[in-house]
Amino acid sequence: MSYGQAQSEQTVISAWRERVRRCPQQPALAYFDFVATAAEVDSASDSLGAVLEDRGVSRGERVGIYLQNVPQYAVVLLALWKIGAVPLVLNPMYRGRELRVIIDDAEPMALVCDEADLDLIGPALRASSVQFVLSTSGLDYQSRNDPRVFARRQRLAPRPEDDLIGLIQANEHRHPAQYDVTGKDLALLAYTSGTTGPPKGALISHANLFATAADFGEVAGVKDGDVVFAIAPLFHITGATLNAALSLVRNCLLVFANRFNAAVTLDAFVEHAVTYTIGSITAFNALSQVPGVSNAEFASIKALYSGGAPIPPSTVEQFEKRFGCYIHNAYGMTETTAGVIAVPPGRRAPVHGPSGSLSVGVPLPRVSLRTVDPNGQPTPAGTAGELEIRGPQVVTGYWRNPSASATTMPEGRLRTGDVAIIDDLGWVYLVDRLKDQINVSGYKVWPREVEDTLYEHPAVFEVAVVGQPDNYQGEAVTAYVSLRDGTTATPEELIAFTRDRLAAYKRPRTVYVIDALPKTHTGKIRRADLKHTGTPLVENI
Ligand code: AMP
Repeated sequence: MSYGQAQSEQTVISAWRERVRRCPQQPALAYFDFVATAAEVDSASDSLGAVLEDRGVSRGERVGIYLQNVPQYAVVLLALWKIGAVPLVLNPMYRGRELRVIIDDAEPMALVCDEADLDLIGPALRASSVQFVLSTSGLDYQSRNDPRVFARRQRLAPRPEDDLIGLIQANEHRHPAQYDVTGKDLALLAYTSGTTGPPKGALISHANLFATAADFGEVAGVKDGDVVFAIAPLFHITGATLNAALSLVRNCLLVFANRFNAAVTLDAFVEHAVTYTIGSITAFNALSQVPGVSNAEFASIKALYSGGAPIPPSTVEQFEKRFGCYIHNAYGMTETTAGVIAVPPGRRAPVHGPSGSLSVGVPLPRVSLRTVDPNGQPTPAGTAGELEIRGPQVVTGYWRNPSASATTMPEGRLRTGDVAIIDDLGWVYLVDRLKDQINVSGYKVWPREVEDTLYEHPAVFEVAVVGQPDNYQGEAVTAYVSLRDGTTATPEELIAFTRDRLAAYKRPRTVYVIDALPKTHTGKIRRADLKHTGTPLVENI
């Protein structure tokens, strides 16, 4: 099959079926000491597809996946795609309300989670659309029980009707009714944080998913026989597309190691002779800090990619000097089904002189880009403007949200909210951001969500949340708070208040309690001023 000439009707599931026909006995998934062939993974996903159909999951129905990077993730994705149902990818760091907002919007019929999270998500799912939950465990499908990942974890005894793997085994040799998905069917529903309003579900079609998986893989030089390690989490579009889908459509081994752990990842690189991965720059920084790490751990690597967040040019240089591996930058959004601009292997991303920004790469073959001024007029090469993207990877809109779709993707052009410069040679440099997003190690935080959470604290009068530059995470969530008259609250208390309400990466790392927030003459909080001042308001604490 030629990936470069992807047909619009070709899907990840049709490519997967072709792969299983071609090489059924080749390894497809690995997890610590577990390896499964393509035929075994196909059979497990057939069994699960049949079980889900028995339970009433049909074409177009959403099923939430609330899991870390475990082999079950790939089995569930394949099972849902086979029956035309829609995987709703959920960040397992989400807590009660964060999860509930998405559940109420997407209305999944079922959910798959780790049994360790059952107590946590139970209350969030009460009286929701979710009719049943299947649970599994990160301990399944392996016997090594690496204490760095599984400390204090024990397999519970789930009820047989809730046990994902037990159900797969009990339904061995069953097949779902064959449903041939089309390019227009939904392949993923992936929520993205927005500047305003609640999170929006990007409608990722099978055509979108196949376009990125096929074209990015082609550009990155991923071939049959390669070994892909899933650093980026599958609940984020980068992991789902550029680690999982990309390797499923080829005859590649896809390696999981549960939640990211730098030392465990390096061991897996060596054990499985990993050739390709994509993750955030924070993950690569973590790998470089593992005691005793040397270029031996990277000996099998052919291409490393980093996406989702800016990379300081010096980080790439130092990494290459120490480990002999160049980190290729890649840019994409949930709405572009992950990476659509990338540095091709063998090329070095140039640095934009005036801004010092490391290029995110050049567009994939079927992607067209332009930069526009605030009136929507194209800006000339070499000058800044909002980046707009067209291509088969760009989603048609958001779930049940026509007004946000019309604003963000007018006539199929995706308005990214990122300010870019495209040079004469087509290299793209990100130089600013129009959207109010904080980028914490590639995870996006919507300041208003953090502000709304802090406003629930009885002592909080006004609050503004901004991202401050941070050496490790890129940006750190920082909150400036003023208190109601006659009340007190320490920064520590306010941070603790967010603990059960927000995923860890969204919680403010620093809270400054100040007398009053800076305002415009119309009374609007001047968030931008706080962002650029850094810490001077501390003196008001
Ligand atoms: P998400 O939808 O979570 O994938 O976030 C998309 C946003 O991440 C983009 O609009 C950019 O602001 C940012 N982003 C993605 N890739 C890069 C990159 N290589 N360098 C800098 N920012 C990036």
